[in-house]
Amino acid sequence: MSLPPIDQKYFFDFLVKLLNIASPTGFAEPAIAFVEKELSQFKQLQLGRTRKGALVATWEVQSDLPPVALTAHVDTLGAVVKEIKSNGRLKLSRIGGIQWPTVETEGVWIITSKGEKVRGSVLIDTASGHIYSGAGSETPRNDDHMEVRLDARTTSEKETRALGINIGDCVAFDPRVEVTNGFIRSRFLDDKACVANIVAAIKSLADSGQSPARSVYFLISNYEEVGHGASAGIPTEVVELVTVDMAVVGKGQESDEFHATLCIKDSGGVYHEGLNKKLRGLAEQHNIPYKTDVYPYYGSDGEAFWRAGGDVALSLIGPGIDASHNYERTHTDGLTATTNWILAYLLSE
Ligand SMILES: [Zn+2]
Repeated sequence: MSLPPIDQKYFFDFLVKLLNIASPTGFAEPAIAFVEKELSQFKQLQLGRTRKGALVATWEVQSDLPPVALTAHVDTLGAVVKEIKSNGRLKLSRIGGIQWPTVETEGVWIITSKGEKVRGSVLIDTASGHIYSGAGSETPRNDDHMEVRLDARTTSEKETRALGINIGDCVAFDPRVEVTNGFIRSRFLDDKACVANIVAAIKSLADSGQSPARSVYFLISNYEEVGHGASAGIPTEVVELVTVDMAVVGKGQESDEFHATLCIKDSGGVYHEGLNKKLRGLAEQHNIPYKTDVYPYYGSDGEAFWRAGGDVALSLIGPGIDASHNYERTHTDGLTATTNWILAYLLSE
């Protein structure tokens, strides 16, 4: 049996739009709502929300087999306003541990609690080369020294507050999306690429008039980057959970941007051997280019579910993402391999 074709144009259009929607953890509702609207075109799906705000799409089919689930997350690294400085600039508290050097000079939106947006950029507090010269290079890039300079007339705390900015407001870093030669370069491909993989697989099945072999829950989670995204929202009758999240590319890693990867072990431990075996078998059967790998400094939403008491077989697959949690990049080949793997899994018994 061959897999239905993937609509590549649709995949990239959807992914680029999703990447351009700011969705730091805790402020991911616009991205959840976007995916919800997109999935609402598929009448095969029933859409619902968890009380935590995650999206659950259910594709119910007639089958004696128990249901399975897939999950990916739309929330990303980001920050909140921690302090308004006496010079009107902002100190930030990071969400999900973005590394400061990777966002130095990046454009940001401050999104106030009333939904207003104020533009700015991230700078070191010794930014001017004509004032600090070499000392600017020596300044440690940390919470104390990084600040947001607002593109608004303010030189005092009072003036900044008058812009409507308050402590706790969302700070979203520009993703800077570029598609070139089959590569896609952007922040937050982790894990929006994999949300796109899932949505593209659903579209591919729907377009070809096919259905999954058994009922499936798709959980689009909104709190992964802080460690507990999928800990709730997966029904107890689900027997297998495939987490779709980025593979780690770089020194010492087996993964690359041109393959999908099956993660055997990460910081949260070892995944489920039985489900891994099934996924390897499907990849081999459908000639899906894949690798196996071990990820350092990595935990997944599937493990969050396990830790919360979820009783399922659990695996983790995803495209290789270079420079993760930094200025990320991946390639069509790894993305296509991942979508095909999802399709093969959905059609399998
Ligand atoms: Zn992720």
